[in-house]
Order: sequence, then C-alpha cells, then structure tokens
Amino acid sequence: MLDLNIPTKALFLDRDGIINIDHGYVNKIEDFTFNEKIFELMHLFIKKHFKLFIVTNQSGIGRGYYSIDDFEKLSKWMLKVLKQEKIEIEAIKFCQHSPETKCGCRKPQTGMIDEILKEYNIDLESSWMIGDKQSDIDLATNAKIGKSISIGNRDIAYSDYHFRTIEECFEFLRYFKL
Ligand SMILES: [Mg+2]
Ligand SMILES: [Zn+2]
Repeated sequence: MLDLNIPTKALFLDRDGIINIDHGYVNKIEDFTFNEKIFELMHLFIKKHFKLFIVTNQSGIGRGYYSIDDFEKLSKWMLKVLKQEKIEIEAIKFCQHSPETKCGCRKPQTGMIDEILKEYNIDLESSWMIGDKQSDIDLATNAKIGKSISIGNRDIAYSDYHFRTIEECFEFLRYFKL
C-alpha cells in the first residue's frame, strides 16, 4: 500500500527573474516572458519526484502598482501555459506587502514556506530553492531548505550554486544527481 506520509521533496521557485524575465513589477500577460529552458529545468525536478511551489514577493500590490486580481489573472494564465508543458505547480504563495509593512511573509521571512508546510509533508533537507535575489537565498537559509541556487548577475552570498542564466543552471543540473 502507498504510504501517504512519506515526505516529499520540494522545489521552491521564485517567480520574477526565474520563471519569467524580470522587467520590474511584471503584472500583465503581454509583459510575461518565460525564461529560456525554465520548462526543461522544471522537468528535471519533476522526473525526480519533486513537488513544485512558487514563492514570490509581489510588493507591487502593496505599493498600488497593480491589484491582487491582476496578479491572480496572470497566475492563472501562467499555470495554464505550464500545464500545457506538463508542469504541475502545487501552489503559488505570494506576499502582497510593501517592505514597510514588516509582515512575516515577505522573503527572506519564512511565512510563505510556513504556510506550505502546514499543507504538505515536505522533506526540507532534500528540497531546493532557486532565486535571483539575496532574499531568496536568505529564505532558504531561514527556512532550512537544503540546497539553494542563485541565478543572474547580482552578487549573492551563501547560495550552494550560482549560474548566470537558467539555461546554464539547466545544463549543470541535467547531469547532476538530484
Ligand atoms: Mg526574483
Ligand atoms: Zn507579506
């Protein structure tokens, strides 16, 4: 019989700069461009039985640049495209607050991960975080996510691996034992 209590490995993904190109406060379908090789990268983890989660700071909502409704419309469209690529996202968690709010969910605070842990039995030590900002990597540290990858040209400390692009990350991980 299937033991439903076996903890699952998770891949936690930042959105802007990881799934899509970060043009700054992306909130419209026409501004949303998927990163080169992101689908292939996600498939590597799916093949190894990871569950995928998106954890994204969306302070543009708190700053009044766009609404929760805008964010949800874009999310719905993004999930549809991913589904067409045979990629299932378990959940999208977002922090809508501006930094001044001092909420508990804005990365690097762990609120979004804490919420996911209430709903899913996750083996954090075997899980990965991929992000393009220090706050993503600090979230991995704060939440005790096993491995972290930083992407892009920013100077980021404490990540286990760093690549300039998602494509380079994919080329590395395709030969890596996840
Ligand atoms: Mg980002
Ligand atoms: Zn928040």
